[in-house]
Amino acid sequence: MASAAAPAVAAQEEDVIIVGAGQSGLAVAACLSLRGVRSSLVLERDDCVGSLWRKRAYDRLHLHLAKQYSALPHAPHPDDAPTYLPRDAFADYLDGYASRFGVRARLRREVRSAAFDPAAGGDGRGRWAVEAIDLGTGKRELYEARFLVVASGENDERFVPEVPGMEAFPGKVMHAAEYRSPEGMEGKAVLVVGGGNSGMEIAYDLASAGAVTSIAVRSELHLVTKEIWNVGMALYGYHVPAWIIDKLVLLMCAVVFGDTARHGLRRPAVGPFTMKLTSPAYPVVDVGTYAKIRSGEVRVLPAAVKSVRGNVVEFADGNRHPFDAIVLATGYRSTVRRWLKSEDGLIGDDGLAARPYPEHWKGENGLYCAGLVRRGIYGSYEDAELIAGDISELLRPKQVQ
Ligand SMILES: Cc1cc2nc3c(=O)[nH]c(=O)nc-3n(C[C@H](O)[C@H](O)[C@H](O)COP(=O)(O)OP(=O)(O)OC[C@H]3O[C@@H](n4cnc5c(N)ncnc54)[C@H](O)[C@@H]3O)c2cc1C
Repeated sequence: MASAAAPAVAAQEEDVIIVGAGQSGLAVAACLSLRGVRSSLVLERDDCVGSLWRKRAYDRLHLHLAKQYSALPHAPHPDDAPTYLPRDAFADYLDGYASRFGVRARLRREVRSAAFDPAAGGDGRGRWAVEAIDLGTGKRELYEARFLVVASGENDERFVPEVPGMEAFPGKVMHAAEYRSPEGMEGKAVLVVGGGNSGMEIAYDLASAGAVTSIAVRSELHLVTKEIWNVGMALYGYHVPAWIIDKLVLLMCAVVFGDTARHGLRRPAVGPFTMKLTSPAYPVVDVGTYAKIRSGEVRVLPAAVKSVRGNVVEFADGNRHPFDAIVLATGYRSTVRRWLKSEDGLIGDDGLAARPYPEHWKGENGLYCAGLVRRGIYGSYEDAELIAGDISELLRPKQVQ
């Protein structure tokens, strides 16, 4: 944060400042541009757009939803694109999207503060005062805008649980965001902590490469296949109630997987679609891990990690096992609350949208959020259209009666 004694810097004026050049920020900028709002600027901390896909995702990642649910506004994936896009193809798509819609993005700009000044602008509407640091030069930059769009992501920062003794573990410990491939893990005893999508897929990747793989799964989870989940998405598109989709999805899952609890993966009481719509939890899309669990290639340890002593990990159920390496697939968190100075109820204490979908995207004084309601790429699509529609309407000169 710049000190009060820092020299005055003239503020650059824009209609809209968008924080974050992931898919959400790019989609908002493109939709604004298509509605004739040219003065929008995206500020991005990293040195590329779509950095989650370029820098923080493992090599074998493919999108979990079919391409029709994984496109941004005005840019469907072509017929010859694979149904489930590989990570790099989606990253390339985002690069192409930014160029195609002439997105103005300023890279290596970290937003450190954004506050609404009701007196600024001289037209009675006030302005958002945004302070960023140019990470290349260290210089402080000021921006002023009537509208501020928070698109800084649900997954901005790695969440690493505090486990006594972990710091002294003699082997490699990495977060899923650093994991790229199983190279060097062949024959090693590796513990993956966390049974979400990343953890289950990384466990599959490791076991396929010959690592002796265990996965610590402390919570209940819904295992689905891509195909089953796409049936659910299609039904949702036809406004079929969530409880009916739940019943159908669970029936199909029972046929495909049998009783997953027999292998340590207990299902929650609430159905998978209702869970997705009403909570931050995603179902886990099986990429082949379950077959490896059944065959014993991946061992499920159904308890939280409690402590580490030397290379031995102790679990909450009292079991202890030695490992050579640990991958923490323990999730991420939003960092919005560190820089956004606003108490209008748009963003909750966890840095995500405070109000449930579909009331989540618009706050007070020209503040919006995109991609913060746990609805993935399709959520970015919807948010961008809503936000750009609203801003362009507010910027439209009023008709004289
Ligand atoms: C491994 C993984 C796989 C996933 N797979 C799927 C999938 O298959 N399908 C799906 O729909 N969803 C998937 N998701 C969910 C996915 O995170 C979201 O769909 C998506 O990344 C959200 O995009 P975003 O633009 O909102 O956020 P991000 O992609 O996180 O982009 C936010 C950007 O904001 C920047 N930023 C943050 N703070 C600041 C700041 N203070 N100043 C400047 N810049 C800042 C960050 O550098 C980042 O580039 C996956 C997530 C992960 C982690």
